[in-house]
Amino acid sequence: MIARAARLQAPRGAIAVDGVELREPSPGEVLVRMEACGICHSDLFVAAQERLAVTPLTLGHEGIGRIESLGPGVTGWTAGDRVGMTFLATTCGTCELCRSGRERFCAKQTNFGFSLHGALTEYAIAPAAGLVRVPTNVEAAALAPMCCAGWTAFGAVREAGLQAGQTVALFGGLGHLALAVARSKGLRVAVADVSEAKLEMARAAGAEITAAGESAGRILQKEHGGVDAAIVLTGSAAAIPQAFKALKRLGTLVLVGVSLSQYELPLVDTVVKGLQIRGSYLGPKEDLESVFALASAGSLQPHVECHEIGKTPELLEQMKRGEILGRAVIRF
Ligand SMILES: [Zn+2]
Ligand SMILES: [Zn+2]
Repeated sequence: MIARAARLQAPRGAIAVDGVELREPSPGEVLVRMEACGICHSDLFVAAQERLAVTPLTLGHEGIGRIESLGPGVTGWTAGDRVGMTFLATTCGTCELCRSGRERFCAKQTNFGFSLHGALTEYAIAPAAGLVRVPTNVEAAALAPMCCAGWTAFGAVREAGLQAGQTVALFGGLGHLALAVARSKGLRVAVADVSEAKLEMARAAGAEITAAGESAGRILQKEHGGVDAAIVLTGSAAAIPQAFKALKRLGTLVLVGVSLSQYELPLVDTVVKGLQIRGSYLGPKEDLESVFALASAGSLQPHVECHEIGKTPELLEQMKRGEILGRAVIRF
């Protein structure tokens, strides 16, 4: 059988949608008929890597599907089960990080759509150990972004460490999901973005404050008294100095978006204002369960635009140019 897949042809190469001959699942693997897969900025990050473990590589780490068949020795799953494929596939399970619920930092992790073939395909073959259970009462296209964007946004808001009533500023990217998570925790939300359309969307979704990208830091500091935490969700490094400027004393800067660029840290302000700077990558498995529970209850609804798989290369180009509002999802 042939399955259509969106594949990166070589490191830093072209992304093309082509037909791939399917093999049988090996021991420990399952065959998943994908229902939907979100497209993520991290797909661009993967496509920009100088080296990759496999090419051509099927991209995609926001996958929702149903198990079609099981390879030998798979337990705990049956055909027809609905599953999710996230960026975090398997981990070693034995290191100190794995044993303390921080398996996302395991040095021996594998990742769908990066070191393993991903979910941007009609049929995916995946290690059963890398799959997660997902709700069955939500449409696949609305659930797909939870596997990465929702999980990431939830973890980042938690890393900000704020109490209800405090103010968090969100810079770009997964803003609309982080906004919903932050509001569910009773936080005041400021949204900064270069796109006026995104700011308008944020106001409609309940952001108390919005600020235009290039002067957002100064506006948030001078006109609104600064923020308790700033979360940089975009991979555009230009947002970091703005987020930094927006912080109150003892504020926290949470970095989520990845890019290959650098940022020069202002040392005086960091020290005398007692600022904290932390990176946030996905979250513990309990966060993912919370995100799916919120989605299942209808309190976390991503803005989704659905497309067919043939549009993937074009969508990634649009994403590079910042033209996608909300999340683009491929529906199979
Ligand atoms: Zn992602
Ligand atoms: Zn480990």
